[in-house]
Amino acid sequence: MKIVTRFAPSPTGYLHIGNIRTALYSWLFARKNNGKFILRIENTDLKRSKDIFIKNIIETLKWLKIDWDEGPYLQSQRLDRYNHMINIMLNNGNAYKCYCSKKKLEQNQFQQNIIKNNIRNCKCRNIKNTISSNKPYTVKLHISKNKHITFIDTIRGKITFQNNILEDFIIRRSNGIPTYNFCVVIDDWDMKITHVIRGEEHINNTPKQIHIINAIKALIPSYTHVSVITDTLGKKISKRDNNFNIIKYKENGYLPHAVLNYILRLGWSYNNKEIFSLEEMKKLFNLKNLNKSSSIFTIKKLNWLNKYYLNKLSEKDMLNYLKNFFNKKNIDINNGPKLKDLYKIFYNRCNTLNEISNLCIIFYKNPTYNKKLVIKKYLNNNTKIILYLFLKNINHIKIWSTKNIDYVLKKILSKLNVNFKEIAMTIRLAITGIENTPPINNILYLMGKKKIIYHIKNAISFIKFNNS
Ligand SMILES: [Zn+2]
Repeated sequence: MKIVTRFAPSPTGYLHIGNIRTALYSWLFARKNNGKFILRIENTDLKRSKDIFIKNIIETLKWLKIDWDEGPYLQSQRLDRYNHMINIMLNNGNAYKCYCSKKKLEQNQFQQNIIKNNIRNCKCRNIKNTISSNKPYTVKLHISKNKHITFIDTIRGKITFQNNILEDFIIRRSNGIPTYNFCVVIDDWDMKITHVIRGEEHINNTPKQIHIINAIKALIPSYTHVSVITDTLGKKISKRDNNFNIIKYKENGYLPHAVLNYILRLGWSYNNKEIFSLEEMKKLFNLKNLNKSSSIFTIKKLNWLNKYYLNKLSEKDMLNYLKNFFNKKNIDINNGPKLKDLYKIFYNRCNTLNEISNLCIIFYKNPTYNKKLVIKKYLNNNTKIILYLFLKNINHIKIWSTKNIDYVLKKILSKLNVNFKEIAMTIRLAITGIENTPPINNILYLMGKKKIIYHIKNAISFIKFNNS
């Protein structure tokens, strides 16, 4: 049997960590077993589905290098196929038309709640389908009673649902659009999916889907419902929370492989191994080692992994990324130190490519002084004297070296009744506008005398302007 898995997101929001995790597990399982991985976009919720989210799905998968063998299939383009199957089911009695109004159905629901576990289906169930009416109708699945649905979940084992708690449910709405569970079953059948790997929120959909599978006499796939991911407070992560959207990590300068490695371990383990190359992932992944309990997303661990892979990044890749970053911001890097020399000083203290870029940028653009507290604290009439003294003294430096820069800084320290931190912070903010940088003498050395003089003069003007 050829193993076939799928990733079937709904384009109703940006892909988050949880979505990508099921994509990754499905993909790895297919790759490990020389199977097939299919991408399917479940966009029958026409109101909430958006093209921008379809674009996001493709872009995210490509960024992470999760490749698919077939698709993307769009459910919205398969409506004829679904309706063909529904007509067959109407003809053979597996489904029936329900003419009840929404209000009536809600009333029914209300009664059910009272009678609990004794589901009443509406009368339409027993009316022959040959009766035609102009009234709008839904199509419902005819569920056989007094049976139960049992399936084996790879992680949780045997799961049983009693049928008498399930009423006949709608497989096509009155607007002619088949429901989610119906489309999933037809797609999985047509695409010969052997293993369904998805989030545990789908466990409750499974008995409904198996009822449909049985009605059309398809094969039941193997089910694996992956446990939820929560934030550090124990709240389930959602598409609505921007902090978990994968694209945000791309934009913030995380490396795709670091993200993949992090997500792999978020719910799966292989002894105590933390670092996995792509080849190792494909070779070692199995369903048996998936965690039964929920997983907690922590940025600290992702940062740790990203730092690890940043250290492994080739100089060529690093420079490419940085050049791209500066291009996008329209910053000319010819007017400053060589990027190659810069990033090597910074990348050990940074978690992401963006952090490195944001440090490198201070050498190519003028600092902005906003009126943030920290700037107020260090760029004011009291600290102005530091800038004046510094300006005067560096003008006299003939050979631009860290040694000579240190000498000037020490000289200022001996003249003024302030500590070194105050001197360093004042100069740092004056020439960079930011408070966290590598040691000040390194920054000064790399920036060069000419630029420093220019920035210091601007900072003095800024102080004068804001304190007059
Ligand atoms: Zn009805």
